[in-house]
Amino acid sequence: MEVHVAARPADYRPAIDHTRFLAVPEAGPDDRIDVGVLFVGAGPAGLAGAIRMAQLLETAPHVKERLGDVPVAVIEKGKYPGAHLVSGAVVNPVAFRTLFPDLPDSALPFRCPVPREALYLLTERGAIRSPLMPPTMRNDGNQVASLSEVARWLGARAEGLGVTLLAENAATEALVLDGAVRGVVTGDKGRGRDGTPQANFEPGVEVRAAATVIAEGSAGHLASALKHHFGLAGRNPQVYALGVKEVWDVARPLDRVIHTMGWPLRWGKAAAEFGGSFIYPLGGRQVSLGL
Ligand SMILES: Cc1cc2nc3c(=O)[nH]c(=O)nc-3n(C[C@H](O)[C@H](O)[C@H](O)COP(=O)(O)OP(=O)(O)OC[C@H]3O[C@@H](n4cnc5c(N)ncnc54)[C@H](O)[C@@H]3O)c2cc1C
Repeated sequence: MEVHVAARPADYRPAIDHTRFLAVPEAGPDDRIDVGVLFVGAGPAGLAGAIRMAQLLETAPHVKERLGDVPVAVIEKGKYPGAHLVSGAVVNPVAFRTLFPDLPDSALPFRCPVPREALYLLTERGAIRSPLMPPTMRNDGNQVASLSEVARWLGARAEGLGVTLLAENAATEALVLDGAVRGVVTGDKGRGRDGTPQANFEPGVEVRAAATVIAEGSAGHLASALKHHFGLAGRNPQVYALGVKEVWDVARPLDRVIHTMGWPLRWGKAAAEFGGSFIYPLGGRQVSLGL
């Protein structure tokens, strides 16, 4: 007998003590890193913000000087920008053109323009092509990209503008004093599985900043803690979905961007399942496929 149970992971979230992720600054000048503007997270948001900040500071040298030896920094837990990003993405290039007005589209980090597109309704045994394309799914003029490559490219651009990248450093606590965020504390490195310090142990360090921008992506633990602490939960909360994504080599190059609805998700209020899948051509015989 097959039994279907609708369950939302959000209904089974473990209770979290958000104060665990907040700390009061205490390190003296010799035991901490001081930066001007600190971006937490080297995804597209953090890197675009850091790049724009560096561009603006070029036009305001007196402000840049006040921000010290490291005017703009980005802290990233991955080994390099993009190391922890998995999205095989169809990207609207407008933000890239705005950020880099002097670069032609051919210099931007995209695999190929969206060639054609199709929407299918899947059933357990077949696929019905939709004659209509909902406006939110139209991608005319957009580009196919690997988000990991995009972040690596943005990281190199940021460094070219003098931004300091602190990769392989997780921001584990936000520093809060007198009603303001003062930076972050990085996590210890070199602890064994049971938490004991190993030969390569390095304790975490305070990174103090004049301004801190939290760009952790979805479900960031510092963003959640700060939202609780400062009462920032608004009317437009972040929403999440679970997904699976893989990159495949296929027999023939795919000539279109494909989105699907229906199977294996179930219809009806009782199932409460919403979503779909995508197959994007990545150039050559590679496709990015996700559900
Ligand atoms: C499977 C999939 C497919 C998608 N497809 C598309 C698409 O086709 N088109 C589209 O436009 N968007 C797509 N998206 C959404 C897109 O990827 C996100 O909107 C985008 O990545 C958000 O950027 P971000 O910089 O806010 O966060 P992220 O890209 O999540 O980057 C956050 C970065 O911060 C780092 N970080 C997080 N917390 C910390 C911390 N405490 N300390 C240090 N570093 C930290 C992470 O390692 C990561 O590098 C897709 C997403 C997924 C998962």
